Order: sequence, then structure tokens, then C-alpha cells
Amino acid sequence: MEGVSQLGLELEPGQVEQFARLLALLREASAQMNLTALHDERDIVLKHFVDSLTCLRGGWLEGELRVLDLGTGAGFPALPLALVRPDLQLIPVDATRKKVEFVGRTAQTLKLENVHPLVSRAETLGRGPGQREAYDRVVTRAVAALPILAELALPFLRVGGLLVAQKGPIAPEELEAGKLAAAEVGGEVRSVEPFTLPVAGDARTLIVVEKTGPTPDRYPRREGVPNRKPLFWRTT
Ligand code: SAH
Repeated sequence: MEGVSQLGLELEPGQVEQFARLLALLREASAQMNLTALHDERDIVLKHFVDSLTCLRGGWLEGELRVLDLGTGAGFPALPLALVRPDLQLIPVDATRKKVEFVGRTAQTLKLENVHPLVSRAETLGRGPGQREAYDRVVTRAVAALPILAELALPFLRVGGLLVAQKGPIAPEELEAGKLAAAEVGGEVRSVEPFTLPVAGDARTLIVVEKTGPTPDRYPRREGVPNRKPLFWRTT
């Protein structure tokens, strides 16, 4: 809990109990399927739970917001966020069905009524009716390079909405490509904040991109293309 208090968060006893249940469910499910690389309790608490909650730094998620979690995996940051912020509506999205099923089952067991998971690739969902410009925020943790995230996330945001991306250290070239890509899809990088993970000390970066205008219809490109040919970004 030291990690959480370092974020300036106070958990109620009921919430601590919910995190303990989440930990148990995650370990139980990981024993049966490949859900997460971490198995040790302390690692899960620090590198999944506490790390997920670092997206609350900077106050970018204040208010009653509709939040899409792009590439949620086993539910990060969506589940910890839903647990401490019942006022947020969370839509965790992932291309892998078994992961999304785990997130749905877990939300039900923990009675998190603010979690509404979807199985889809972001490229396809981002073109779907009722999805474009339908969210106040997109959160995403450890999913892709910034230019790819910009193309996948910005279509979901209303103008004025924010992408809040949780990453490790970011190279200057990735950031530059990310800025150009954001401009191309209707956004602008607002904040790049390096910090260290409480207790564990690992280097992290919280990046915020604001949607400043509509995303051109040609984005996102079709499935797989944003990753294979990231905007303004040459991977070797
Ligand atoms: N956010 C989680 C998982 C990170 S792993 C965590 O921090 O633990 C990246 C996840 O993103 C994988 O589960 C993968 O299936 C998903 N993903 C990657 N590209 C995607 C896309 N285009 N659409 C939907 N999901 C995607």
C-alpha cells in the first residue's frame, strides 16, 4: 500500500479487499492461461496495480468520463482504475478474446458495474458506428510506439478529449515521430512527464495527447498497417 500512498491515493478498506481479490483471480487464471508475465505477488501489486494507477498523475482523468482502455490485456490499467474511480465508465478493448473474457468475468466477480469490455482490433472498432469521437479519454499501457498509439487512439476521442499513454522511457526520435503523427490524425502532444514507479523505481513516462480537430476518414488504416508502417516512424 506504500506504493499507492506515494501516488497521493488513499484506499478505503473495501478497496484494499477488492485489490486482494483481483490479485487472487489474476494468479488463479494465470496458472491456467498465459495472461501476464508476472507471477510473484509483490511484482503484480507494484508493476500491475500501482503502475496502472500512475495514469492518475497530473489529474488528466478528473470528472465523470467515458474512458477506453486500448490494448487492455488482462485489464491494465482498466481494472485498477475502475476499482478506485467508480465515477469513470471504463471500456477495456483488446484483440485477444480470452483476455477480454477474463476482464469481463473479473469485473462481474468484483461487481465493477463501470466496466464494459469489448473484443476488437482498434483499427476496426475505430471505424465502427457509435465509436468514433465517442470517448472523453483513451488510456493505454505498454501497447505500442507513440505514432502507432496516436493513429489508433485519436479516432475514438471527441475534440478536446485526451490520450493518456503509459510508457517506459521514450527515445527522442519516437517522441518526434509521435508529434508528427498526432498532428496528422488531429492531435497535439500536451505533456511528456518522466517519473519513477513508486517503490520499484523503474523509469516511466506519461504522455498526454489532446484531440484538437477531427481525424481524417482515412485513419486508422486497415488492420495491421499502423503497426507495420507507423506514421513518420522508421523501425529497422
Ligand atoms: N495494457 C496491458 C497489456 C499490454 S500488452 C498491460 O499493460 O498489461 C499489449 C496488448 O495490446 C495485447 O494484449 C494485444 O492483444 C493488444 N493490442 C495490440 N494492438 C492492438 C490493436 N490494434 N487492437 C486491439 N488490441 C491490441
